[in-house]
Amino acid sequence: MSAADFLDQWFETDVLKATMSASGIIGTFLGVRSPGTAYVLLHHYMGEIDGAFRAWGFSRGGTGAISNAIAAAAREAGAEIRTQAGVERILVQNGRAIGVVLEGGEEIRAEVVSSSIDPRMTFEKMIGERELPGDFMEEVRRYKYRGSSGKVNLALDGLPEFAAIPGTGRHLRGAISVSPAVDYMERAYDQAKYGEFSRRPYIDMVIPTLTDPSLAPPGKHVLSCFVQYAPYNLKEGTWDDKRDEFGDTVVDTIAEYAPNIRSLIIGRQVLTPLDIERSVGLSEGNIFQGELSLEQLFFLRPMAGWARYRTPIRRLYLSGSATHPGGGIMGAPGRLAALEILKDIGK
Ligand SMILES: Cc1cc2nc3c(=O)[nH]c(=O)nc-3n(C[C@H](O)[C@H](O)[C@H](O)COP(=O)(O)OP(=O)(O)OC[C@H]3O[C@@H](n4cnc5c(N)ncnc54)[C@H](O)[C@@H]3O)c2cc1C
Repeated sequence: MSAADFLDQWFETDVLKATMSASGIIGTFLGVRSPGTAYVLLHHYMGEIDGAFRAWGFSRGGTGAISNAIAAAAREAGAEIRTQAGVERILVQNGRAIGVVLEGGEEIRAEVVSSSIDPRMTFEKMIGERELPGDFMEEVRRYKYRGSSGKVNLALDGLPEFAAIPGTGRHLRGAISVSPAVDYMERAYDQAKYGEFSRRPYIDMVIPTLTDPSLAPPGKHVLSCFVQYAPYNLKEGTWDDKRDEFGDTVVDTIAEYAPNIRSLIIGRQVLTPLDIERSVGLSEGNIFQGELSLEQLFFLRPMAGWARYRTPIRRLYLSGSATHPGGGIMGAPGRLAALEILKDIGK
């Protein structure tokens, strides 16, 4: 069912339903009234932090601190990690992965290759059709990305004041959401459906510097805004032409709720789905390495017959968000893939 239908079963107040419904559309090119979005909503309540079921949190040092913590644990267990080492190709011999070739030509041989990037990048870019069955490649091409999210990061000279709750109290430490009505959320999608970014978007804001002052100089703050909708495919123009306009729209929308915002901005970074694709290699900028829609979830993620991290190439595995149980900073796909790899290599 849709996120809006699901919430109707539990709540009466429109503004509460609106803000709750937002979890149903994150990373998805669907509206809060589109069937299937109730799943996406519940996906966002999966897991726990330190025993607190459904909790979300900030990591001190920024999100990269989580990757660094995992890397430190891996190094302690003997792993060697190389960064700034882009993989160009996966080497395949007689239907088996035998290593990778880095940009620049260096070859690294391996018993097992585990790819935590998405199927398009893994199979179309790094392997190619000749090594893979035709029906498999058809599924790879059919897998949907449809990035719909943008980010606007603002460096601020002080804290924003929201007209609804003046002052700079504890309310600024949590998630702040521009999602005033279920209709507002659906209208934001209407524009995206026809190939435009939302002129009054849904915005999910956090001020991480209130919980982790190390992220900015004293007295300064970061306002990190997650924005929908920013469709990867625009009907007119390109994201390179529209990036600033999109950033202005986000700031104008925030200013309707926090009038002092413009005077505080000392720096601005606008990331469109195209920028996300270019900078971290997420196809079409989909934040979850592919939509969390029913036809590509559970035993169908990323595709029917290939949901157990294995691929048609022996000793090549998928281990990222495009595999079950999907996107999010939770590490579950990687752990489940590692368990399957250990089984196959007899450990
Ligand atoms: C803007 C945005 C906001 C998000 N917000 C949240 C949130 O608030 N909470 C949450 O839980 N999740 C959030 N997510 C989703 C979450 O970040 C991802 O689902 C998660 O990081 C996926 O982890 P992964 O290990 O599967 O893949 P990734 O983190 O994508 O790791 C893949 C790695 O492969 C590297 N790579 C790509 N191509 C190559 C190549 N050719 N050679 C070598 N390396 C390569 C990439 O640089 C990257 O480091 C967000 C994602 C985005 C983009």
